[in-house]
Amino acid sequence: MAQFHLSVIAGDGIGPEVIAEGIKALNAVGDRFGHRFTYANYLAGGAALDSTGVPLPEATVKGVKDSAALLFGAIGGPKWESLPHHLKPEAGLLKLRKELDAWANLRPAIVFDELVDASTIKPEVLRGTDIMVLRELTGGIYFGQPRGIDGTGPQRRGFNTEVYSEFEIERIVRLAFAIAAGRRKKVCSVDKANVLESSQVWREVATRVGKEFPDIALSHMYVDNAAMQLIRDPKQFDVIVTGNIFGDILSDEASQLTGSIGMLASASVGGPVGFFEPIHGSAPDIVGQKKANPLATIGTVALLLRHGLKLEAEALMVERAIRQTLKDGLRTGDIRQAGCTLVDTSIMGDAVALRIRGMG
Ligand code: NAD
Repeated sequence: MAQFHLSVIAGDGIGPEVIAEGIKALNAVGDRFGHRFTYANYLAGGAALDSTGVPLPEATVKGVKDSAALLFGAIGGPKWESLPHHLKPEAGLLKLRKELDAWANLRPAIVFDELVDASTIKPEVLRGTDIMVLRELTGGIYFGQPRGIDGTGPQRRGFNTEVYSEFEIERIVRLAFAIAAGRRKKVCSVDKANVLESSQVWREVATRVGKEFPDIALSHMYVDNAAMQLIRDPKQFDVIVTGNIFGDILSDEASQLTGSIGMLASASVGGPVGFFEPIHGSAPDIVGQKKANPLATIGTVALLLRHGLKLEAEALMVERAIRQTLKDGLRTGDIRQAGCTLVDTSIMGDAVALRIRGMG
């Protein structure tokens, strides 16, 4: 029996509600595959502010670093919004990401057949879409130096620096190829090499690394075209790999193809401990009403199993169970459809766990 020790930060708002359902899925995987998952709960965000006065207590950082992977719910809410910047819940989240040195952010955007009508885009364009957006997370213009604001009057200016070293590009592009190898074997590297020197280096490195993977098709696309192609014909993409700012924008765009924020999982990996979280926030408007869709968190559990613990068969089982639950017609309010059964957070979580335990 394999044993895995996980850290859990449920957080604020609907965070604890959806994390409870993610744990149900993990326990079902444990029973099914003979693994034992142990959990240590830590505080961050508003819950940490209320009980310790800081958004990211040292004990949380230490505990997370001592675990095999972190399952994270969501943080924040109106109660803490007026605090000074360094005490806001989000400051804790950013610090934790930095502490974990997670340089690769993965966001799958999968359009389930059952939910193809939930998006604002035409069903025939969307059907079959399954994209993995891989965004470099610790480099590029968000971190480049110099940066700042100087000057006065009309000469006052703000400036940032887009900078990428070869090693930063190479490691994320290699990860893109590794992920594509287990998918449809296509990598699209997105840059702005017609204008930016940093993108020119990006494209050179991607091309060089690509030669090592002859069975995977590498293409290059300028970011402006990629933004258009994602809406025009999303099915053409398998894995998209790109830098920090382009990935920030494209991953949000891709996520909107799928209809509901309650369906979207993410993983931030590369450091010693992976950080796995649904992309939604703490949803204060529905907290305590059992309306939260737990499928983003259960999808996040699949990413944790695959990328955090290297348990591929287990990850696939969770993803199949999510699909089957949707096929069986269960829906939370955010993905409600005529003819389907409206269920609450906990019943949806139970349904997926049941299918993980029982699927052939
Ligand atoms: P949000 O994602 O919390 O909610 C946006 C909308 O989506 C709301 O109408 C909400 O009800 C709905 N929604 C979100 N998750 C859902 C789910 N699982 N099921 C059904 N509906 C869902 O974004 P927001 O309202 O902009 O932010 C609320 C708080 O969350 C803020 O304090 C914000 O700073 C914080 N936040 C935290 C994170 C994080 O922890 N990573 C991310 C985004 C926002």
